[in-house]
Amino acid sequence: MLGRMMNKPLLISSLVQHAAIYHHDTDIVSVETTGDVAHTTWAQVSENARQLGAALMRLGLDPQDRCATIAWNNRRHLEIYFGVSGAGFVCHTINPRLFPDQLVYIINHADDKVLFIDATFLPIIIKLSEHLPRLDHVILMGPRDEEAASQFPGLKFYDEFLETGETGFEWPQFDENTASSLCYTSGTTGNPKGVLYSHRSTVLHSFSAISADSLALSARDVVMPVVPMFHVNAWGVPYAAAMAGSSMVLPGPDLSGAALVDLIDDHGVTIALGVPTIWLGLLAHAEKSGSRLTTLERTVVGGSACPPSVITQFREEFGVDTIHAWGMTETSPLGSTNHPLAKYGDLPLGEQHRLRESQGRPPYGVELKIVDEHGYDQPHDGKAVGNLLARGLWVMDSYFRADDDALQDGWFNTGDVATLNEDGYMTVKDRAKDIIKSGGEWISSVMLENIAIGHPGLSDAAVVGVNHDRWDERPILIAIVAEGAAPTPEELLTFFDGKIAAWQVPDKVVFRDELPRTATGKVLKRQLREEYADILKD
Ligand code: ADP
Repeated sequence: MLGRMMNKPLLISSLVQHAAIYHHDTDIVSVETTGDVAHTTWAQVSENARQLGAALMRLGLDPQDRCATIAWNNRRHLEIYFGVSGAGFVCHTINPRLFPDQLVYIINHADDKVLFIDATFLPIIIKLSEHLPRLDHVILMGPRDEEAASQFPGLKFYDEFLETGETGFEWPQFDENTASSLCYTSGTTGNPKGVLYSHRSTVLHSFSAISADSLALSARDVVMPVVPMFHVNAWGVPYAAAMAGSSMVLPGPDLSGAALVDLIDDHGVTIALGVPTIWLGLLAHAEKSGSRLTTLERTVVGGSACPPSVITQFREEFGVDTIHAWGMTETSPLGSTNHPLAKYGDLPLGEQHRLRESQGRPPYGVELKIVDEHGYDQPHDGKAVGNLLARGLWVMDSYFRADDDALQDGWFNTGDVATLNEDGYMTVKDRAKDIIKSGGEWISSVMLENIAIGHPGLSDAAVVGVNHDRWDERPILIAIVAEGAAPTPEELLTFFDGKIAAWQVPDKVVFRDELPRTATGKVLKRQLREEYADILKD
């Protein structure tokens, strides 16, 4: 016997439809590519998304054809998220920081038919267009611009293109398992791989994201996704914000500490999300400018391990709670978030703070476990270290257009090495490929980086393992000095004393101006390892 309840497919269009009806006049602030600040509302976003859906239908595309974007976080990008997926096409967000040949590879591999771009990216598309034979329409996200039109024959303009779709377009209804959006992982080796989300996985991820022990988004929040909309759908925030009816601040291209502090103060941002480097920049600027970040209640930090000093500084100087979150493109991305359990209220303060440094617990819908190199389950005792596997309602089961099985006994191998404690708190020790193997013992590069970044003389740091005659590998510290500081190598190394075992302290310090990073902002450790491979040899 089946339950006698209504059955409606979980579709992305229903999110924006809800926001338009019940949060119609909620403000959405958008920093345009020109630097101007525009305001819109959920009602207007919904209206434009429907008109865009209708306009795309008129192009004669096939269902689930890919419509790509190379764009900053702004209002038109938000409309495209809902318009493309809502009308039954696949919204493929592309990271503009990829190398040109990776861009060509991705656009061709995805078979993109339409490409929406911000003006910033017109020059690169003009250069690459001869390598993109199946891309039929390029649409510049703005009003008509004669100069741009003369540079690229056939270029369409978003605001004009919208007008070609009828108003009052009704969202089509289809199977909730239909593909909705596509993101490629940047992949430090080999070609990028595509992760194809469904309407169902996206809506379920949104329910989870707005829940109290996740991001806790509500209609009283002003949410600023600093994480780009081209990186795992801005961690799902545009969909979750529509579901919760939150107000949004979309920061556009300038993600400097100064710009972000101004946006928080000017528009009353209550929650902001981004990778650790963003917060290091923001905290440095807030301190200099004297801003108190008065409205900001919480920051969500993920993408790389959050240095404990960031959590402390936010809490002690600004009264801001930091939610440490873990995830990856293949997990939509939210796989765990760190909130305390009630029983931790009795622990000494120091212990409570230490617990906040872990990557947190999986929500309902995601399961995590650790296994040894033979695939055997390891205990969840907070001590055993193993390869982290995930499965769940918004975890990928195979890559787009790839035949090989991406799973290990039904679980996705994340490539991270972690511990899990009895309450499910997961702590990432390292990427499996970055962990340092010294004389048969493992040293977590993340642990050493977390300590080093707490030194006031450094603005950033990375630790990698390099060749060593006796111990196979030893850690070295690659240090980026903070403005106006001049720490000595000895001073930086004694900073580790008493914080870790003596044999884990790096053997050497190397100073650099900046760290090489991937398109998603992760430190390119492979490059550093190659560059300094023989630095400890005499
Ligand atoms: P990429 O495209 O760079 O692979 P992803 O966002 O998919 O981007 O990267 C996922 C990886 O990022 C995870 O497997 C993990 O190694 C790292 N990561 C994400 N969040 C955290 C975190 N909070 N702490 C430590 N590492 C993290």
